[in-house]
Amino acid sequence: QFPLGRRLPCDIYWHGVSFHDNNIFSGQVNKFPGMMETVRKITLSRAMRTMQDLFPLEYNFYPRSWILPEELPLFVAEVRMMKDRNPSWKPTFIVKPDGGCQGDGIYLIKDPSDIRLTGSIQSRPAVVQEYICKPLLVDKLKFDIRLYVLLKSLEPLEIYIAKDGLSRFCTEPYQEPTLKNLHQVFMHLTNYSLNIHSGNFIHSDSVNTGSKRTFSSILCRLSSRGADVKKLWSDIISLVIKTIIALTPELKVYYQSDIPAGKPGPTCFQILGFDILLMKNLKPILLEVNANPSMRIEHEQELSPGVFENVPSPVDEEVKVAVIRDTLRLVDPQKKKRKDTHPAVPPKLPPCALLCCRCPSVEQEASEELPEAALPSLCLKQVFPKYAKHFSYLRLVDRVAALFIRFLGVKGTTKLGPTGFRTFIRNCKLSNSNFSMAAVDILYIDITRRWNSMGIDHKESGMCLQAFVEAFFCLAQRKYKSLPLHEQVASLIELCECRLAAVRGKRLLWGCG
Ligand code: ADP
Repeated sequence: QFPLGRRLPCDIYWHGVSFHDNNIFSGQVNKFPGMMETVRKITLSRAMRTMQDLFPLEYNFYPRSWILPEELPLFVAEVRMMKDRNPSWKPTFIVKPDGGCQGDGIYLIKDPSDIRLTGSIQSRPAVVQEYICKPLLVDKLKFDIRLYVLLKSLEPLEIYIAKDGLSRFCTEPYQEPTLKNLHQVFMHLTNYSLNIHSGNFIHSDSVNTGSKRTFSSILCRLSSRGADVKKLWSDIISLVIKTIIALTPELKVYYQSDIPAGKPGPTCFQILGFDILLMKNLKPILLEVNANPSMRIEHEQELSPGVFENVPSPVDEEVKVAVIRDTLRLVDPQKKKRKDTHPAVPPKLPPCALLCCRCPSVEQEASEELPEAALPSLCLKQVFPKYAKHFSYLRLVDRVAALFIRFLGVKGTTKLGPTGFRTFIRNCKLSNSNFSMAAVDILYIDITRRWNSMGIDHKESGMCLQAFVEAFFCLAQRKYKSLPLHEQVASLIELCECRLAAVRGKRLLWGCG
C-alpha cells in the first residue's frame, strides 16, 4: 500500500475504486477506465436495450426497463397498451435510482401513476423495471446470486467466471407483491446490507445455512430435487458473455481515450460482481453488474450492546479468497517467464512422491520450483474465447464502436465532432442524391442535441457512442428497408468496413507510388 503516493512502477496495480492514475505507463491495473460509468443502472439499461432491439430473444434475460425521467411518457403508454391487450396482466415495477447501490432508494409500484414515482423522478434519474414476481424460493425465501467474473482483457476479449458464488437471502418469507406488502424490503430485496438489519438475519457458520450461502450449496439442493443444474450453468455463462458483449463497445471508447493506441500505457483487468435472480423455472435474470464488488471476508458482530467486532465469515472466505488468488495467478507477469524457463511438463518428482503425495519436503520442493503446483486448481473458468463461436454474431455494436473510434480524430476524446461524422459518411460513401450532406448535418445535430439534453456527460461536446449507434441504425434502416434490424445493421457495417478498406488500400498504393 502506498498511502502517500507511489514512486516506483509496479507489475500489478490494485486500485480501490477506479482506473484513474495519470502516471501508469506499464504493468496491469485491476480496473478498466470507464467501467463504473458503463455499469451504472441507466447506462447498463441503455446498452441492454440496444442489444434487445437487435437480438430480442437472445437478450430476454434482462427485465424490460425504462429510463426516467425522459421515458416516463413511453413507460405510461407502453404499460397502458400492454394492459389493454391483456387485461389479466397485473404487473409490479421496481424503481431504482441511478448510481444507487445496496438497495438505496429502491421501491416497488403497481402502476405508473403511483404518486411516489411522479413525485421523485424529477429530482433523481432512475430506472424503472418490470419486477420479477415469481422468483425461485429456497426455504420459502427469495434470494439472489452474486457471481464473480474476471474481465481479463478487452481486446482480445477474455472472460473468466468463478465456479462458485454467493447466495444472499431475504429474511421474511416471500409473497407475490400486493399493495399491502410492496414496502416490505426484507421480503422483496435480497441486499445483504438491508437484511442484516432484520432480526431474522442469520450469520452463516457453514456454507449451506443462514442468510448468505455458497451458490454451490444451492445447486446441490436443486440437483437433489432433480433440477437440470448443467443447463442452469450454461444459461448463466451465456448471460454473462452476452452482458459483457453489450458493455464492450462503451468500454472500448473509454479505453482508447485513457490509453490511446500507440502510446505507452498499462493493460487492464477487472473483477466484476454479477447479481442474478433465478426465476421459478430456473431462468437466470440479470439484475445488475457491480464494478467494485465487496471483497470483505469478515462481518461485524455486536458482542454486547454497542460493542462490535469483526469476525471471519466462512462463506465469504470460501468464495472470495479463491477469486482473488486465481485472478492474481491469471495476470501474474512472472508466469510467462516461468513458462519459458520451465518445460510444460510437471517437475519430475522422486518416486516416493507418487506414493506419498502429501510428503511435505517433496511438496515444498515442487512448489519452490513451480509455485503454482502448490495451489488448488483454478476456480476461475475461461468462457471466452472458449465459447466465442456461439456468440460472435452478437458483436455488431462492437464493430459500430470500432468505426466510431476510427473517426474520433483527436486522441483522448470520447465524442465525435460534426467534421468526424461528415468524414465517416464521406469515406463510407453513404451520402447520395436522396441523402445529401445537408441531411447528414441535420441527422448529426438532431441526434446529438437529444443525447446531450439527457444530461449524461457535459464535459465534452459532440456525439457520444450511443448517439452514433442510433444514427448508424437510422442509416441502416434507410438503406436496407425490408430486412430485420440486425441484418440491416450487419449489412451496413460490412459495407462501411469494405469501403474503408478500399480507401486504405488506395492510400497505401499512393504512398508506395
Ligand atoms: P442495488 O444496486 O441498489 O443493490 P439492485 O438492482 O441490485 O440494486 O436491486 C436491489 C435488489 O432488488 C436486488 O438484489 C433484488 O433482490 C431486487 N430486484 C432488483 N431488480 C429486480 C427485479 N427486476 N425483479 C425482482 N427483484 C429485483
